[in-house]
Formats: sequence, C-alpha cells, structure tokens
Amino acid sequence: MFEQRKHEGVTYFVFKELEDQGVAHVIGTRQGGVSPPPFDTLNVSLAVEDTPERVRENRARLARILHLTPDDLVRVHLVHGAQAEKVGREHKGTMIRHRDALMTDEPGVPLFMTFADCIPVIIFDPIHRAVALVHAGWRGTAAGITMRTIAQMQQTYGSRPEDLVVALGPGIGRCHYEVGMDVIEAFDVFGRGPVVFEKKGRRYFLDLVETNAQQAAMMHVPTVLKSGYCTACHPDLFFSHRGEKGKTGRFGVIVMLREPQP
Ligand SMILES: [Zn+2]
Repeated sequence: MFEQRKHEGVTYFVFKELEDQGVAHVIGTRQGGVSPPPFDTLNVSLAVEDTPERVRENRARLARILHLTPDDLVRVHLVHGAQAEKVGREHKGTMIRHRDALMTDEPGVPLFMTFADCIPVIIFDPIHRAVALVHAGWRGTAAGITMRTIAQMQQTYGSRPEDLVVALGPGIGRCHYEVGMDVIEAFDVFGRGPVVFEKKGRRYFLDLVETNAQQAAMMHVPTVLKSGYCTACHPDLFFSHRGEKGKTGRFGVIVMLREPQP
C-alpha cells in the first residue's frame, strides 16, 4: 500500500510493505517547504534556480522525518545513465558522481535523490538486507537501469531476484508522457528489454512505470509495488517537469535500511 502521511507540515508517502520490512523511506511531495513559486514549496534540488538556503531548509524538513539531517544524505550527480554505485557509511554526506542508482547493505546509510517525472525505483532484498534507489527516466530505462541494478545486486550482495521487492514511486504517467518515435526506437537500439507504450495515431505515449515493471518481471522479481500516481496528474502533490514545462522544483526520496531489531 502507498500511504500518504504528514510530519511537521510536510506531506510524504511510504510503501507500507517496505516499511514493515525495515526499509525506512520517505517519498516527498511539494507540500510543507519554504520555497516560492515555481519551486513551491518543498523543492530539494540545487539544480534549479532556488536558493541554497531554502533548499537546505527543505531537505532538513524531509530528513527530519527519519531523524536525519541533510549532512547524513548520500547524494548523486545524475547523468541519466544506468550505472549503480555501492555505498556505505563512509559516503554519508558526500556526492557520488555520474551515477543514477545507489545501493547499500549497511543500515543507517540514507540514499537520496530528487525527482520531477522520472520514476523513483526502490529495490529491496529482505534476505541479504540490501536496498537500492534508482532514478529511472527514459534514457536510464531504455538502458535497462532496473534490470541492471538487479544484476548488480546479484553480483554485489548475492541477491536472488526471486526474493526481491521492487517499488515504483510517483512519476510521469502514460497519460501525460508523449514522446517522439526516436525515444521508442531507443529501446530497440539498446535492446535491453521491453518497452510499454500506447500509440494514438502518430503520437506515442511512453509508460515508464510499466516498462520498469516489465524489467523486474523479466528478471523474475515476484513482487512489484506501484504508487499509482502520475506526477503531471497531481500538480498539488508533486513537481512535474513535463506538466509545468520545465519551470518547477524537485521532490526528494530518501531510502535507508534500519538497524536490525533485536
Ligand atoms: Zn497523468
């Protein structure tokens, strides 16, 4: 279940099934921050023209939900590729460059990324206690980022796909994601797996959630959770790059393994 909650005025969501298994996480919204339009109000990205002071305050509000500060977060410099990086405690408060997926098997290491249409993908291995956070836009998805991160978890942690849980957070839905034929063709070029889209006359509508869900299914992951939210359909809750023609902020996602219960 994708559950909406509020903490000190900040609206956020959690996947109940992940939380119950010890994956502490926060899927932020745009509600409860300090930024003015078009970043209103909980923008957590420095890559847009918001001020560093406001972004820091917004990140602090989001992090507090998990009793963290912005200095605890492992951040990434996204490049819309498909590479995952293994991180641990030594990476807390640092920025990992040129990566679009982070993974860890250490409790208390919060993985952090920002979104405004790309799909946040959380991959959890309850047996080896490892988790990954993936930033899946069309380029990363065409390059098979969900499949490749699962494969990297197999190599790094000994994960078995049949044990994994994949959760697909809010992102641009098929209803709002018209793309050129070049984007659809990119999936054939990379040849990394299926592409789910709808063709209406000469127009193509890409379904990033279902495409990533099919990547998980191809790897034989039995459990795929979906938020059911299109960012462009819910401008009150989420930033949408497409829905707001590029003039918007980013909402944050934090994912962290809890210490094992005694
Ligand atoms: Zn939509």
